[in-house]
Amino acid sequence: MSLKLRLTVQSPRSFRLRLRYVPEDGVLPIPYPRAVLGGLLAIWGLLLAVPYLPSVGFTQATQPTLAVQGTVMATPDLPLPWPQSIAVDADRAVSARFRSRSTLDGILRGAGVSGSDLGNLLDVVTESINVRRIRPGQEYQLYFDAAKQLIGFRYQFERQTAWFVARRDAEWVATQVAIPIESRASYVSAEIADSLHRSLAQFAPSNAAVADLVAKIGDIYGWDVDFQYDLRYGDRLDLVVEERYVEGKFIGYGEILAAEFQVNGRTLPVVRFRDPDGIGSYFTPDGESLRRAFLRSPVKYSRISSRFSNRRVHPVTGVARAHRGVDYAADPGTPVQATADGVVLEARYGAEPGRYVKLRHGGSYSSIYMHLSRIADGVSPGSEVRQGQVLGYVGKTGNATGYHLHYGLLQGGNYVDPLRLQFPAADPVPSEHWGRFVAQRDDAMQRLQDGRATRAAAIAGGGL
Ligand SMILES: [Zn+2]
Repeated sequence: MSLKLRLTVQSPRSFRLRLRYVPEDGVLPIPYPRAVLGGLLAIWGLLLAVPYLPSVGFTQATQPTLAVQGTVMATPDLPLPWPQSIAVDADRAVSARFRSRSTLDGILRGAGVSGSDLGNLLDVVTESINVRRIRPGQEYQLYFDAAKQLIGFRYQFERQTAWFVARRDAEWVATQVAIPIESRASYVSAEIADSLHRSLAQFAPSNAAVADLVAKIGDIYGWDVDFQYDLRYGDRLDLVVEERYVEGKFIGYGEILAAEFQVNGRTLPVVRFRDPDGIGSYFTPDGESLRRAFLRSPVKYSRISSRFSNRRVHPVTGVARAHRGVDYAADPGTPVQATADGVVLEARYGAEPGRYVKLRHGGSYSSIYMHLSRIADGVSPGSEVRQGQVLGYVGKTGNATGYHLHYGLLQGGNYVDPLRLQFPAADPVPSEHWGRFVAQRDDAMQRLQDGRATRAAAIAGGGL
């Protein structure tokens, strides 16, 4: 038996303390009272929010902010243009929502504006803002100076656009303000308990965000990790991911900048490299690509109906013989993709394979795609194809019982199991980009290290 204490403070919305009592037969998490933490969090949030008031907005001043922010992303502090600067200088801000019976006149009158000043303000507001688009429930803000005089009115009509009406000298001026998306890097460290999805769920603010993060991780590690079979209890995933905010409100994840996956005894670090054209891809710290020269599967949205084997009973002939490929059951007409760049060797009809395409690839590989209903236009012997290019469509021509693709892969003329092969890697970082890569890599790895150090310090210094 053992007792574990765990403090997790890596993500803006995650602030968890877990007391874990671990009996021999499993893990029993006991939630720790969060009231104490709530107090700490509020202070923390306020401290962090102060320098961000301009962009965070008054309504979110007490929203908890990224705990490890100091160690990661440097969001440039841009001087605020007029009229937002007025909001920053405001002595007081009031946020409210339009109700079904509110009128602008009533709202502004209630804010203490009267006489010709009110008339002028209403003119400016109604000239600029399409008041018919205002719906009950939408928010507006009123800004006051120290003398309790109204100096600004804000109405946000889209997530990234707001109207700002502010007093400038003696006049009211309306300006449409574009609200920028702020990107912050966040360190996430997840210990795999049962599934990757559930392990990440404690960090992400919504189910959609978790699904998005899991998909991104799948894209990066899909070549190296079988998420169904490789994960073990206690495996660990550390990553630095961009989080996108509009005025302090989380709107979704951006790119994963760096990650390290400890899975089933292996450690797999990756960093994202953005080339001069702005195209991002993932490499190991040595500059090797994670993208393999072969796609794992030639058919999207399919299921494996028969695996590679050296001996099995054929469903049609009843004769025991090897199955030298993988069958993918899919709807008729589903596109079949070339799993790698290559040249078409054969594209024709045969009694056994039905309509089929055979490709020769670089190195020692060739691949074959059988039982097609149709071969795609332009796919004929001698023509070049690119990875992902559609070669034909799923059918059941030749010796096939149902709609499926039979996919075979040959290495040096021998059939090999496409699901077990360690494929050769795609091209490494081009030498002309090496300096750029190293700079980005070192920055990304540093962020990962900083995140880890902060986490370790949080655990050690938690006073618990
Ligand atoms: Zn087959």
